[in-house]
Amino acid sequence: MSTTVATSAQLIRLEETYGAHNYHPLDVVVSRARGVWVWDVEGNKYLDFLAAYSAVNQGHCHPKIVAALKEQAERVTLTSRAFRNDQLGPLCEELCRLTGFSRFLPMNTGAEAVETAIKAARKWAHTVKDVPDDRGEILVFEGNFHGRTTTIVGFSSEEQYRKGFGPFTPGFRLLPYGDAQAVEKAITPETVAILVEAIQGEGGIRIPPAGFLRRLREIATANRVLLVLDEIQSGLGRTGKLFCYEHEGIRPDIVVIGKALGGGTVPVSGILSDDEVMSVFKPGDHGSTFGGNPLACAVAHAAIRALVDEGMIENSARLGDYFLQHLRALKSPHVKEVRGRGLWIGVELKPESGGARRFCEALQKQGLLCKETHVNIIRFAPPLVITREEIDWAVERIAKVLS
Ligand code: PLP
Repeated sequence: MSTTVATSAQLIRLEETYGAHNYHPLDVVVSRARGVWVWDVEGNKYLDFLAAYSAVNQGHCHPKIVAALKEQAERVTLTSRAFRNDQLGPLCEELCRLTGFSRFLPMNTGAEAVETAIKAARKWAHTVKDVPDDRGEILVFEGNFHGRTTTIVGFSSEEQYRKGFGPFTPGFRLLPYGDAQAVEKAITPETVAILVEAIQGEGGIRIPPAGFLRRLREIATANRVLLVLDEIQSGLGRTGKLFCYEHEGIRPDIVVIGKALGGGTVPVSGILSDDEVMSVFKPGDHGSTFGGNPLACAVAHAAIRALVDEGMIENSARLGDYFLQHLRALKSPHVKEVRGRGLWIGVELKPESGGARRFCEALQKQGLLCKETHVNIIRFAPPLVITREEIDWAVERIAKVLS
């Protein structure tokens, strides 16, 4: 079967028969993609309005990123960190120059980078802040999504993410998202860090009240607690700034990045921080066989350059506003609220409208690929290279489906 041309139905059957059922995808079998467009195996064309949860911010198969991938793949792909490679240093320098942080620690997936931030914060607390060993608490928020490792799902507020996977790692405390007073009250001498998403993506494009992040910055500084921003989904241009926290004019102590850092090709993630935190890691404390591999570094370098040099962040700001305005102007009996920042928009439907899934399936029939988050929210997050005409095309179809 794998060597002959198969239909979507055949491929879906193979996946359902031999693959684990840990996802519930739309039944579209993509075999080719370019920019904001994808094609299924029958040649039907769709506008990608999810962009692999923001991992494809630069658009599918961006020519410069693919060129860097190919060029590096033919030279050297993996050395492990037992040896040095000629791509890691230049990537670290590029990221530090761009963001103003002084060091970068590379990993692969987002969850690994969040784990890295947790380890950095804990070791900082035990070696710099003098929190006793095996003590210390990290404040996290209801509705969070930081990945799927057992430590991370252990502090999720989503029943399904936890159920059956315990026992969990202690040392986390859940607080209401957006409630700075609750954070202030929860701080003790053993508080290590505040781990927060600038906007909760998987939580349903939940935007905290204005000033929330700024207040967290003040509380963290006043209490010698690290502020850790998970910008894996919100970062790298998605909200119209390089990082979403820039909308509040703050700077965290650690920023966690991933997804679009790999330019939609290979997994690349990591944390950015300054010496006080990063110097807690000594050789042997932390690592990953593939973290910092030359293929990933070459791709990440090209991905960052494409994002910045080609004005994608500005495009996200400009067309995000345009798209939001048009969505807010829709006359739909189903829409409860439209919210978003940059090209990251959630349309929350009324509970009586029967859930977002059926609207995503209807949008698929119109040539638009979106994915529901939670039961009633449709998330729109196209690649940041989308044009005004493509947004107009999409709005027409969204208006039809939501009418
Ligand atoms: N953190 C945030 C904010 C995310 O949105 C995600 C993935 O959606 C992750 C962490 C986990 O990233 P990964 O799936 O690459 O492990």
